[in-house]
Amino acid sequence: QPTCLITIGMAGTGKSTLLQRMNAHLSSKRIPRYAINLDPAVAQVSFGAHIDIRDTVNYKQVMKQYNLGPNGGILTALNLFTTKFDQVLDLVAKRAPSVDYILLDTPGQIEIFTWSASGAIITDTLSATYPTVVLYIIDTPRSTAPATFMSNMLYACSILYKTRLPFVLVFNKTDVVSHDFAKEWLTDFESFQAALEEDTSYMGSLVSSMCLVLEEFYSHLRVVGVSAVTGDGMDELFEAVQEAAQEYMTEFKSELERRM
Ligand code: GDP
Repeated sequence: QPTCLITIGMAGTGKSTLLQRMNAHLSSKRIPRYAINLDPAVAQVSFGAHIDIRDTVNYKQVMKQYNLGPNGGILTALNLFTTKFDQVLDLVAKRAPSVDYILLDTPGQIEIFTWSASGAIITDTLSATYPTVVLYIIDTPRSTAPATFMSNMLYACSILYKTRLPFVLVFNKTDVVSHDFAKEWLTDFESFQAALEEDTSYMGSLVSSMCLVLEEFYSHLRVVGVSAVTGDGMDELFEAVQEAAQEYMTEFKSELERRM
């Protein structure tokens, strides 16, 4: 069974660049993969998608036809595409025996995928069949402020609880800023508290009580630092993915069977 990797991240975190890098990394190791682009508004798919939502729906046309703005256009395009997702699953099933990974890119506006019926249908149907792992991409240089870091972690937390899938936090752009600070904050509560004390805004006390809640969340996470630009951390990323896929088999799959 191939492992499905669903990449999710705020716009600009480097999702597309990272997918391109992951694709090149697998290619250099001659590891076969299958790529699906679910972002209807992307100008160029750099990772050579086998299935591309843009081949099925033109989101600009959708905007015109239904008189929608860009976000409505993207969401509607994704909905239209999802009505045909059974065909995608058929195509994937044909290739599944011969590939190790299925890579998915999601729309740049994160909530269009994470909080839509279509996103849930795509995530649920894939994870019903294949070991599926969510890669949550973080812009490391933009997450060095404690309050920003916290809100980013809360967002990740909400996605984890919504999808209930094994999760890898991927700190990207480590060529600009190392993710050591993040590793420390995630594992050492007191160091995060200390960083917060320097933040004297009214947010400080809210955030400090929030981080107690997040301690539990952190214990379910794998954390890696990568640079999509230099390729640093790719081996660690795929090691974390392997572990997460293992977790899918031991925890998620049995949970799924219980729910059925
Ligand atoms: P997306 O919107 O999440 O798909 O992000 P893109 O892949 O388009 O990247 C957004 C910007 O971040 C681009 O200017 C990239 O060149 C840059 N970027 C992506 N990954 C890295 C990285 O690892 N290091 C650095 N320095 N820049 C990066």
